[in-house]
Amino acid sequence: MNDNALVKLRQITQTYRSGRKEFVAIRDVNITVGESEFVALLGPSGCGKSTLLRITTGLQKPTEGRVLYRGRPLDGVNPHATIVFQTFALFPWLTVRQNVEVALKPRGFSPEQRAQRAEELISLVGLDGFETAFPRELSGGMRQKVGFARALAVAPELLCLDEPFSALDVLSAESLRGELLEMWTSGTMPTKAILMVTHSIEEAVFMSDRIVVMDKEPGRVVADVIVDLPHPRDRSSPRFAALVDHAYATLAGQTQPEHVEIGTAPGQPGRTRALPNVPVDVLETLLEYVADLGKPADLFRLTEALHIDSDYVLRLSEAAELLGFATVAQGDIDLTPLGEAFAEARIVARREIFATRLRRLPLIQWLLGLLNAANDRRLEYDVALKALELEFPPDEAERQLDLAIEWGRYAELLQYDDDGEVLYLESDQIGASR
Ligand code: ADP
Ligand code: MG
Repeated sequence: MNDNALVKLRQITQTYRSGRKEFVAIRDVNITVGESEFVALLGPSGCGKSTLLRITTGLQKPTEGRVLYRGRPLDGVNPHATIVFQTFALFPWLTVRQNVEVALKPRGFSPEQRAQRAEELISLVGLDGFETAFPRELSGGMRQKVGFARALAVAPELLCLDEPFSALDVLSAESLRGELLEMWTSGTMPTKAILMVTHSIEEAVFMSDRIVVMDKEPGRVVADVIVDLPHPRDRSSPRFAALVDHAYATLAGQTQPEHVEIGTAPGQPGRTRALPNVPVDVLETLLEYVADLGKPADLFRLTEALHIDSDYVLRLSEAAELLGFATVAQGDIDLTPLGEAFAEARIVARREIFATRLRRLPLIQWLLGLLNAANDRRLEYDVALKALELEFPPDEAERQLDLAIEWGRYAELLQYDDDGEVLYLESDQIGASR
């Protein structure tokens, strides 16, 4: 049974520390990647995709669980696997050919063999004629191709890709996807299996044979979707759309009971609810769009209508849910009566509705509480940031504070002085937060 399994992850759990709390980043994950399979790992940012790739390739040992490679427990870094990251670090002082040859050095080739092998790989990824160019002379897409060539230089059996196209412009990304699929389907690359992390549903359906869908908090597998479409795939075919829809339905989940949805405040036990990273004006656009539609909107159609990617649509729907403006089920978003009222209101009334909803969020309550307790009701940005760094990793703490300020300003609950970098309460909010 399952004899052609290349790699098996069994009951993988990973915990990390964040500020003073320990949290479970990934819980009980089981994934098998078989020989000749192209598996996509799909999920919202923060669900543990990169962590799982590091664990799969042996760059990181999980807190619990086992990794088996060809049936044997993995011990240390897997020599048969390679990861390509979002942006590949090339040596700026080496040419394209030399950058590829670097990866061949430890493998005992003669200098002539190395040069020839590098030539072949450069040609394989479509960079003929650029052998002697330096990285600074290349576009982002071409640099990423060099990255692929270097990853393939070691002839990995298992090629792991961590959002390899997401740092590229639309055209370069599309052309590189094509090159990779061409190499993969024609069998010109030595690779036996591909495990590709992505947060784009369309990319997963376009490229892979199977999609392992993850959700976050804690990171876990929620679905395993077979993509049985022949290559090359037609994004406009009904089968393609149906598979994308199906993936949305598993990913966007269901609206949770209110107390679960909003989480707890910083410093309290339980999960501190992070604010979804979306600007208020884009949220307004989404709600207006759905209100105009007059019926539940298909999340996949929204990515097309609003020209945004699936990750963004999911964050927007999460924000709409958190604020009680919408519910999400089976891949559709539907406005609540409050959401409709918001979408139809004028700006002043909108701000009031938004403020009422915002005041319920523990993170906002906490911030307003801090401001009320502060001298002059003023708080330096850095002080608030330090406090949040006890809850979130530094980058996330900053993002959360910026979002709280942006949303709070829109709702006219608080003000922010950009020059002095101080937050302060709107005068009519003093004492109102408790
Ligand atoms: P993804 O790739 O799906 O965005 P990651 O694997 O990068 O997710 O991260 C999953 C969660 O674990 C996130 O909340 C992230 O902040 C956290 N995390 C990742 N690496 C570390 C680390 N080395 N220390 C602490 N927290 C981490
Ligand atoms: Mg990642």
